[in-house]
Amino acid sequence: MRVHRDYEAFLQELGDRFPQERAGIRRFYDTCWQIFNCLNAIELLSLQEYRYLFRVFFQNPGACLGLARFLPQNIGDVARRYIRDPELLRFIDMECYCWSVVPADRTPAINAGMVFSDRHYGGINYPQGGVGQIGLALVRGLERHGGQIRYGARVTAIVPDRDGVTVRLANGESLRARRVISNATRWDTFDRLVPLPLPASEQRWRERYQPSPSFLSLHLGIRAEALPAATDCHHILLEDWQHLEAEQGTVFVSIPTLLDPTLAPPGRHIVHTFTPSWLAHWQNLSPSAYKARKAEAAQTLLARLERLWPGLTAAIEVQAVGTPRTHRRFLGRMDGSYGPIPRDRPWGLVGMPFNRTPFPNLFCVGDSTFPGQGLNAVAFSGFACGHLVASTLA
Ligand SMILES: Cc1cc2nc3c(=O)[nH]c(=O)nc-3n(C[C@H](O)[C@H](O)[C@H](O)COP(=O)(O)OP(=O)(O)OC[C@H]3O[C@@H](n4cnc5c(N)ncnc54)[C@H](O)[C@@H]3O)c2cc1C
Repeated sequence: MRVHRDYEAFLQELGDRFPQERAGIRRFYDTCWQIFNCLNAIELLSLQEYRYLFRVFFQNPGACLGLARFLPQNIGDVARRYIRDPELLRFIDMECYCWSVVPADRTPAINAGMVFSDRHYGGINYPQGGVGQIGLALVRGLERHGGQIRYGARVTAIVPDRDGVTVRLANGESLRARRVISNATRWDTFDRLVPLPLPASEQRWRERYQPSPSFLSLHLGIRAEALPAATDCHHILLEDWQHLEAEQGTVFVSIPTLLDPTLAPPGRHIVHTFTPSWLAHWQNLSPSAYKARKAEAAQTLLARLERLWPGLTAAIEVQAVGTPRTHRRFLGRMDGSYGPIPRDRPWGLVGMPFNRTPFPNLFCVGDSTFPGQGLNAVAFSGFACGHLVASTLA
């Protein structure tokens, strides 16, 4: 199944596969557009800043009420209102799983409305020069406004008090600020960095949400002739629906050099393949057993990819494997987790924590705060948090 950028072409292809569901498919994805249009109609700032909430409500009451209706809903419930075919419902599970790492019944309708429509509205875009260009652009903006980035500065403690926050660095330095925003996950922030008892609200959140798996990544540099002309950039591979959420079940593939050939030497492609994996699968191994497990996992992934692109293995020139341990070490994320997932069926987005913490001068941002994982979501979280902090300093 190809997810076309053109909305009508996408509906046509999906409808051709499930002709008896053609009308339901349209009603379902049109409902996602309603959510997207509401989001698109309003200025998005912090939902914790009351002056903004009043203003945005009076400017656009229809869009706000539309969103409020979907706030406690999951997209699986919306899908079942219009669709009956079990295989099509599994497809919608995969539509969700590929970014929320949970099936549709545990994916908030608001997030799904954004993702399922934005790909047709603006399309899925890849920054020229690689994803690092997004970070570099943010750095340029920050520096232009007098800010400074301290690279390689590992934070070892965040100590909030009545007047501000002290941040300690691994090099022994202490920094002081009136407000501090932590971009580490909420688990890392409150378990490893804030040396105070876990606040009750954080405990309650943990009872509702748990860490998702991490990923096993296989990075390849290949000779270009292994890929047929007109290969698409992104692929998802799953042989059996039962394995959707299993350890190394669903396989994701991204080939960014199809969109930006400058990322690799001429005549070569980068293939990034990744699949969900838990840290537990990679623990308590000797260095040689760890290495052997990585080699074995890479071979299994390659055997699966060969079904899509026969001859791929023979075209490999560079190969590197990353595990949940790699994610944990290089991103400082608890168990290398991709972010929080609901333990049970959530009430849409209602249970996610926002940017405030129980400490008035300490804020949290990123994928373990509302509205969750993914670049769109964390960009919104950052935007909302910046606005909220500024409002407390006014
Ligand atoms: C394999 C993979 C593919 C993905 N593909 C997509 C995609 O195609 N589209 C999409 O929208 N999203 C995608 N995502 C999701 C997206 O990358 C994340 O949701 C997003 O990067 C999370 O941002 P964040 O700022 O919350 O956390 P992070 O990106 O983890 O940033 C946190 C930062 O804090 C730093 N940090 C942590 N602890 C400390 C400390 N103690 N001291 C100093 N610094 C610290 C870390 O070094 C890190 O730079 C993907 C994720 C993965 C793993």
